[in-house]
Amino acid sequence: MNREPRKCHVLVVDDEPANRDLLCRRLQRAGYGTSSAASAEEAWRLIGERLPSLVLLDVCMPGVSGLDLLARLRGQTSTRLLPIIMVTSMSDSSDVVNAIQGGANDYVTKPIDLPVLLARMETHLRMASLVTQLESQGRILAHLAAFDDLTGLYNRRSVGAAIQAGCQRAQERHHPLALLMLDLDHFKEVNDRHGHAVGDAVLKELAARLAAAVRDSDVVGRHGGEEFVVMLPDTDARAALAVAERIRGAIGGTPFACNSGPIPVTVSIGASALAAGESVVPCQLLEEADRALYEAKRAGRDRVVLFGQG
Ligand code: GH3
Ligand code: MG
Ligand code: MG
Repeated sequence: MNREPRKCHVLVVDDEPANRDLLCRRLQRAGYGTSSAASAEEAWRLIGERLPSLVLLDVCMPGVSGLDLLARLRGQTSTRLLPIIMVTSMSDSSDVVNAIQGGANDYVTKPIDLPVLLARMETHLRMASLVTQLESQGRILAHLAAFDDLTGLYNRRSVGAAIQAGCQRAQERHHPLALLMLDLDHFKEVNDRHGHAVGDAVLKELAARLAAAVRDSDVVGRHGGEEFVVMLPDTDARAALAVAERIRGAIGGTPFACNSGPIPVTVSIGASALAAGESVVPCQLLEEADRALYEAKRAGRDRVVLFGQG
């Protein structure tokens, strides 16, 4: 078992001072840190101040009952998974049913059999730590699934989803929307001349410049190797061209610093726009930006082309 009991803090909630004190002393002897509350209200306040590792909660208390406190704790995010063991009187099995159905992890009956209680506490503390680990791994996986590892920008999948949603929103609200598709010019030469690691560093720096050149409400993603896409909500074709020129300047205007000296980098940009009130499927808008990008390459690179005006 990799859990250190001394680091675990147990909150004992019981309206009977003698029960409370005795249980706290026995838990302390077993290596746990303890605090106690004489009512559900006091427990609620203490939990708000400092989240315990586990709560031992008396069902039967005057005023707000243990079951009511349980419901409140399960209703808020920070205590949704807090291990809670209910302490019930032996005679009342309906308390047990209500407690389990209300989200308690477990129950023990009075008079408390300490070795049994300790074994159950161990189990629930271990489960809680596994759940915490799983949640954190889930967050890591969700991040990996949505973001590009090298640049930290949205990856192709999530920027595609953002474009889908953005297009739908724009059409519902009769707002304009624009897409920019960017591709580094002759990037293969950067890799060939300076090595792949420098190529990677250029892509990272480019992503940072790109993100800095647009509004927070715009969406920037890495569409593929050295190809990037920007969604500009509430932006018509004219404004999109202005943003694209600003991006082109932010990249081409200052060479990229690297150990072997400054590297000049330029980009070609294809733009497509959905006018207010117009309707289009998102993949068509992407396709149009891609065709405009192709035109920009064909026309000599380091330039912006708006679809239909190439
Ligand atoms: P063009 O102006 O026609 O776009 O020329 P280009 O050389 O940029 O285009 P090409 O498609 O011939 O080559 C793209 C290069 O981008 C080749 C590939 O190795 C490089 N590339 C793609 N992804 C990465 C990456 O993650 N890191 C690095 N360092 N290079 C990459
Ligand atoms: Mg390229
Ligand atoms: Mg390319």
